[in-house]
Amino acid sequence: MALKKLVAGNWKMHGLSADLAEVEAIASEAQRYPAVDVALCVPSILIERAARAVPGFPIGGQDVHHAEKGAHTGCTSALMLLDAGAVLTIVGHSERRDAQRESDAEVKAKATAALSVGLSVILCVGESLDVREQGGAIETVTAQLDRSLPDSLEGEAELAIAYEPIWAIGTGKIPTMPEIAEMHAAIRATLRGRFGAAGEQVRILYGGSVKASNAGEIFGIRDVDGALVGGASLTAADFIPIVAAGAAAS
Ligand code: PEP
Repeated sequence: MALKKLVAGNWKMHGLSADLAEVEAIASEAQRYPAVDVALCVPSILIERAARAVPGFPIGGQDVHHAEKGAHTGCTSALMLLDAGAVLTIVGHSERRDAQRESDAEVKAKATAALSVGLSVILCVGESLDVREQGGAIETVTAQLDRSLPDSLEGEAELAIAYEPIWAIGTGKIPTMPEIAEMHAAIRATLRGRFGAAGEQVRILYGGSVKASNAGEIFGIRDVDGALVGGASLTAADFIPIVAAGAAAS
């Protein structure tokens, strides 16, 4: 049976107090599409105010430190995210893997730390353009996933995977539909290999230049269980049509 779709927004380093009105608009309009789970991952400094502004609507972080606490200047622990009102977090986004040199082992530790306190996780993987052009995308992404996955899926919090080809993020370019289908099938096989039947229940999101005009086609692909959306999640006007496409494909 198809999994309920999850459409999550990643606001990256966008969002001031004035933008809380947009969070409210998204949360309010998302209620029209109960067939889809909707969430927004906002800058950490906005989490508490966003969570207070839209009680019951899932607000998430964009990163988490793997340690419980300690001498880690500028970092945010899983318990801190939870304490601020977050219910999920992204880990391993390619912008962090690149700019902060995050390794697969660190991503695994972050996912494990978040899940252990009850925060759901969207774990990102994806290949560079070079790797895609050289024909190594499937092998690279499944190996990256294998090294980044937590050891177990026990507990209440949910793990989701976001397949985000690095070259598709913020560029307006996307893989072909068969390429997305092939990658999602390979990710599903990896999850099944690691977690057995539980691996069938892990949602696999596609991310990279999703917008209203391409969301319907992407959501129609087998094993695409939702989307992680960057630029088009910043306003209700852009984001809600993507949620609607998710509902239509459900
Ligand atoms: C992202 O940052 O996770 C993302 C998918 O960005 P965009 O939708 O802007 O390509």
